[in-house]
Amino acid sequence: MNAPTPRIAIIGAGPGGLTCARILQRQGIPVTVHDLDASRTSRNQGGTLDMHPGTGQHALRAAGLWDAFTALSRPEGEQMRLVSRDGRVLIDAVPAQDGRGKPEIDRGQLRDLLLDSLEPGTVRWGHQLTHAEPLGEGTHRLHFADGSTAEADLVVGADGAWSKVRRLVSDATPVYTGVTFVETGLDDADHRHPERAALTGNGTMMALDNNQGIIAQRNSGGHIRVYIGMRTDEDWYQRRNLDLNDNQAVREALLKEFTGWGDDLLGFITDTDTDTDTGYTNRPLHALPVPHTWPHTQGVTLLGDAAHLMSPFSGMGANLAMRDGADLAAALIEHPSTDDAITAYEDILFPRSSEAAEGAAEGINSAFAPDSATQALAHMTRDQ
Ligand SMILES: Cc1cc2nc3c(=O)[nH]c(=O)nc-3n(C[C@H](O)[C@H](O)[C@H](O)COP(=O)(O)OP(=O)(O)OC[C@H]3O[C@@H](n4cnc5c(N)ncnc54)[C@H](O)[C@@H]3O)c2cc1C
Repeated sequence: MNAPTPRIAIIGAGPGGLTCARILQRQGIPVTVHDLDASRTSRNQGGTLDMHPGTGQHALRAAGLWDAFTALSRPEGEQMRLVSRDGRVLIDAVPAQDGRGKPEIDRGQLRDLLLDSLEPGTVRWGHQLTHAEPLGEGTHRLHFADGSTAEADLVVGADGAWSKVRRLVSDATPVYTGVTFVETGLDDADHRHPERAALTGNGTMMALDNNQGIIAQRNSGGHIRVYIGMRTDEDWYQRRNLDLNDNQAVREALLKEFTGWGDDLLGFITDTDTDTDTGYTNRPLHALPVPHTWPHTQGVTLLGDAAHLMSPFSGMGANLAMRDGADLAAALIEHPSTDDAITAYEDILFPRSSEAAEGAAEGINSAFAPDSATQALAHMTRDQ
């Protein structure tokens, strides 16, 4: 007699969870994804991501979505500029258009691509997991904020930085890295903000100096996303009695923080589109301790940020989440026993994510250091 098909519940419809679901479904393995968002359109998905060959690109191919991805992606978005704090372009790395690079895609486009590839009804929107209750032998009862419940033989925690599934396997919680990004943006930049658009180029512009940074990234549709980064206390705005909803006050506070920076760069702080909904969003950056592993636990595993939240200075978070999703799906396809599949997957996951997380910690510490301008120049000169 065949073993009954395990009930697989993925918590989180981010890039990692959706990749896993897509690959399982392609092999005819039933899966359900639960996400707290009310619908696929209820939240802006944020900036742009570059897809790396061994991780994000591998996952897209395994998901059968490579051609659809290349139709949407922006290979020219790989351009990377290093700018001094007075606004001079120090390095302008333009990618070779040989098809072997790391093309960019908007996060929203990537999510739509993955969502559209799933069978209708796969994602249960408005399902915020509050906790998962072990019932024995690897089965869990999932409890959602709306009072509903579901049972699963495998719970996949793809629920991001503040994962609720993680509690089943680990006591670790994310720790503040010491760096905060304040995010803002420029709409229709080529027309409304031509000087900022010219300095940004087609990809990413980065100016780093003395524990501070201004980073601008071109998204599709003429939008430029801006991150104003500072090594600072997590409650920096409270100490300044700053209301984060008061755009004018935030702008003045940031200008004060960046005293001495050139006007071309300060324009990324002041030229924001306050007549649209852009405003300023405070984003303290957190990371899980490195390495983050857990004892094998029947009926549950983690992927992506839930498993290895790291600073964005690895440039790998979404890429790793997708590769994790692809590897977990491959293990479940290959191994008849769910337990064996989890073990095989975690054997790959732990060393890979530890190495990347170490790199991300080093990356953020060198990008936000007293001598970050010198370090960034040396780093990018080496990579030329
Ligand atoms: C400023 C910044 C820039 C970045 N740039 C890059 C980059 O250039 N390249 C790159 O590869 N990575 C980048 N990253 C990292 C990347 O965003 C993450 O690593 C990636 O999104 C992780 O994917 P995930 O699927 O694990 O989780 P997420 O994308 O966080 O998705 C988790 C999903 O789970 C849902 N969820 C959460 N809690 C619950 C719950 N209790 N119940 C139900 N659903 C829940 C959420 O709604 C969400 O849809 C960046 C991160 C930041 C902060």
